Amino acid sequence: MKITSAALLSPLACVSTSFAFLNALEADAAARLKNILSPDAAVYFPGSDTFDDATERWQNWASPRFLAAVEVATEKDVRFANKHHRPFLAVSGGHGMVGSLGNFNYGIEIWIRKLNTINIAEDGKSARLGGGLLSKEVTDALWAKGMQTTTGLCECVGMMGALLGGGHGILQGGYGLIADNLVEAHVVLPDGSRTTASVASNPDLYWAMKGAGHNFAVITSYTIKIYNVPANNSWVIESYIYTEDKLEELLELTNAFTEEGEQPVKFLNWAYYVSLPDVDPDHPVIQYKLLYKGSTAQASHYTSGYRALSPVSITSDTVSYPDLPVINGNSNADIGCQHGYSVLQYPISLHQYNVTAHRKAFDIFADYTRRYPGLNASFFMNEGYSLKGVKGVPAESTAYPDQDGNLLIAPVMIFFDPAEEDHADEAGKAIWEVLLEGSRTPNLDAYVNYVSKGESVQDIYGHEPWRLEKLRGLKRKYDPANTFRYFAPIW
Ligand SMILES: Cc1cc2nc3c(=O)[nH]c(=O)nc-3n(C[C@H](O)[C@H](O)[C@H](O)COP(=O)(O)OP(=O)(O)OC[C@H]3O[C@@H](n4cnc5c(N)ncnc54)[C@H](O)[C@@H]3O)c2cc1C
Repeated sequence: MKITSAALLSPLACVSTSFAFLNALEADAAARLKNILSPDAAVYFPGSDTFDDATERWQNWASPRFLAAVEVATEKDVRFANKHHRPFLAVSGGHGMVGSLGNFNYGIEIWIRKLNTINIAEDGKSARLGGGLLSKEVTDALWAKGMQTTTGLCECVGMMGALLGGGHGILQGGYGLIADNLVEAHVVLPDGSRTTASVASNPDLYWAMKGAGHNFAVITSYTIKIYNVPANNSWVIESYIYTEDKLEELLELTNAFTEEGEQPVKFLNWAYYVSLPDVDPDHPVIQYKLLYKGSTAQASHYTSGYRALSPVSITSDTVSYPDLPVINGNSNADIGCQHGYSVLQYPISLHQYNVTAHRKAFDIFADYTRRYPGLNASFFMNEGYSLKGVKGVPAESTAYPDQDGNLLIAPVMIFFDPAEEDHADEAGKAIWEVLLEGSRTPNLDAYVNYVSKGESVQDIYGHEPWRLEKLRGLKRKYDPANTFRYFAPIW
């Protein structure tokens, strides 16, 4: 075990109670931790480069503040954290963006990245994964053995971080959400005890892990279903850029392809409204991405319609599943995997595009990003994943509450000057209002992994009263002191 410290230089030192704790923790660490933690574990304090690496985040806005990062190497190491009577938070990919993380003050980060083993079962039907793995690590390791499962789109996102809220990914049309593939989770509960959550063991906790899992435990390892890569494994990906006058035709075309909201398994689409002044200096443009599982000839059923709308540009590629993030701009090298943004997202799940409402939303986004240049890096995300595999799982069998949300919509308001936060918030709320007015339900359904602030617990965990009642009962049972209260808390 390694202990590094430059605590006295830390800006945290001005916080007297924290300072006292820091000294105590450091002394404690130096004197005792080496007897408690495993040889490969390490403790880092503010001022060291590794502490900075461990605590650096995608989202700067409302980010948690840490006194120390404990790099755990075994399940037993995780159990150390609850002994210090300080808040603790598991971190894997560091992409958590919800505003409630800002309530985490001067606690301990359980840096879980070293829990990164991958063992494929002999029957090839499941794999046991470490709780700290990232999406790409899982995709690549399985692919090397001719296997795959649903993983997140961005290479750098934590597999477990995504799973705990459901976990959307390209393969969900066939296999369901990442969470739908969870077989069992090995967890450390708030009191430091270990247990397993599965159909056979603590089935109620197992249910909660799949959609509301951030509220209950640290997951040290888990077993997930995996599948053989099919013989024909190529994906066609086409990217188009359209000027804003094509918005209505584009959304109508997408609606036509999605059979009353039921999107085919092989067809996925994303529309991003972004600022691209070289193409249109006055309005956001529409960057539309189409993904089709199959050959170029088969994809032409879809691509011909989009090509006929005369985009400003077209790029086309055929790749296999692990290469999709590279072509799609979601790889470790791309902007989505860089750190240090201040971001407010306003997610809303919709059944289909209401073209009139979407035009209003587009115009609000265009207006705010034009009026406030500090919001210029913002983009408006419309994700169309197939839900076929998701709906194959009984809705009541997981805590993921929204099997009808075919489209994951979210203006992603990015700013660098805190003075822009209010403008970002105004824009996001105005967009919510028009999209909700145009939706087929009066309720806001917001994907927990995309929320920032402003959603109610019902918006996040479901409007059916039994869902929240069940979750709250489980909180009383598994986490009565509400230790896990920093990521979209249920209470
Ligand atoms: C660029 C980008 C791309 C994204 N792409 C996708 C996508 O394709 N699909 C999708 O569904 N979502 C996606 N998301 C949303 C993503 O699921 C959430 O941001 C998620 O919280 C990120 O998890 P993380 O491990 O990267 O972040 P972290 O900040 O490390 O974790 C987030 C929270 O998860 C909990 N947590 C993480 N690991 C553990 C563990 N082992 N045990 C217990 N709790 C744990 C903690 O509460 C932590 O605060 C994306 C987000 C971003 C910023």
